[in-house]
Amino acid sequence: MASSSLALSSPAGGSTNSHNRNNKRAKTKHYYTEMQASLSPGNNSTDGAAATPAAGKLEELKQREAELSKLLASVRREKLSAIRARPLTIGVMGFGRFGQFIARTFSKYGRIVVTSRSDYTDIANGMGVKYVPLSNLDAFLAEDLDVIVVATSILSFKSTIQSLVPHLEKQLLAKAGKGDSAIVKGPLIVDVLSVKEHARQVMLDLLPPECDILCTHPMFGPDSGKKGWHGLNFVYEKTRLDKVVLEPESNNYNVNNNDSDNEEAFVDTAGQVHSVHEDSEAHVEAIDRVERFLSIWEEEGCRMVPMSAKDHDAYAANSQFITHLMGRILGSQGLSSTPIDTKGFESVLKLVGSTTADSFDLFYGLYKFNQNSLDTILQLRSAMDEVVDKLKVMEDEEQQKGNSVDPNNSKVVPS
Ligand code: NAP
Repeated sequence: MASSSLALSSPAGGSTNSHNRNNKRAKTKHYYTEMQASLSPGNNSTDGAAATPAAGKLEELKQREAELSKLLASVRREKLSAIRARPLTIGVMGFGRFGQFIARTFSKYGRIVVTSRSDYTDIANGMGVKYVPLSNLDAFLAEDLDVIVVATSILSFKSTIQSLVPHLEKQLLAKAGKGDSAIVKGPLIVDVLSVKEHARQVMLDLLPPECDILCTHPMFGPDSGKKGWHGLNFVYEKTRLDKVVLEPESNNYNVNNNDSDNEEAFVDTAGQVHSVHEDSEAHVEAIDRVERFLSIWEEEGCRMVPMSAKDHDAYAANSQFITHLMGRILGSQGLSSTPIDTKGFESVLKLVGSTTADSFDLFYGLYKFNQNSLDTILQLRSAMDEVVDKLKVMEDEEQQKGNSVDPNNSKVVPS
């Protein structure tokens, strides 16, 4: 494979770097030898000789580590050129705050067509992407989209999918009329909703079987991702590929399966194991397309997290939802900067700013469509009571000890 030879040669302009690295290694080796010599009792015994292989081993491992990271860099370069050699045409439905944020990055990798209720022609033009009004979904689909990313609000997601379906069916029918119906495929439909079980169910219930489904949640947005996506979590579940609905708990490919011979197998909801090499053009195409789309996020440096929609929602209620809830609660207290802000308070203000920058529709969607969110609110309430009770108990104890507590100065709100 081209990658291995590429990997072991120096990258262009890398000779000075590799010279520096070699120098550094030589220095490190020298340091270890010196250290060993100084640690060896008597400084000339056979103990010193016995320790030498360990130091040599470390050096060897470091060299292998460096070679592997070169190999990884080269594979990533190859991967990037593979994506760019066959770029996807990606449609984005919902060109609001988040839709614009992702479309900007997608445009580095492929042709982007966006659609939305509001007229975003100017913003789209400024970004070099094409805008089609939401009222003309036939024109949107006529753009020959490989992938459609639905980035509308959580609240409008179901109605958006409902309105898309007849147009998809019309397109599929037209394709089937033109040729071999066995390989007629619709676009891959991807959602980016901050709640996953709802999105998964709606898409499985409504989308035609010819459309593959990928559920995703980028755990970042225009604020947290404004300096790039590197290291930010990207949660995804390959939900349906080539008409096979994948078993959510199997975490798509092989997560419960450590057998390396079976690395590219997955289980459907009927418990049947499928190979990604299944001999069907449609199947290979489905896998390839989803991988090319996921590669965009990988290339941007996201931390890729395969996870079932159910697990996502359970985790998100106690992480993302509680963050938004606290931000909203603190925001409604009307907090503002003082001349003596601590770093902690600056973080609080930042939390308020970032959570209230998102629409209230988004917050309401997090609450309404995550079955765990009400529990989170109830737990927060009881945690607040618990903490206040502790203050009360301490105040009572002080009183009982005879320490006079001025009743006018009793702080704790009576329950
Ligand atoms: P949002 O308020 O949740 O959604 C705004 C988008 O929804 C706009 O594109 C808007 O279109 C569209 N929309 C609203 N009501 C609609 C309706 N009845 N019919 C059709 N379209 C409608 O704000 P957002 O921040 O842009 O989020 C979009 C999606 O991304 C949400 O599902 C959210 O969960 C997800 N997400 C957001 C973030 C984030 O940090 N903001 C992060 C990860 C995922 P118009 O602008 O044309 O009116």
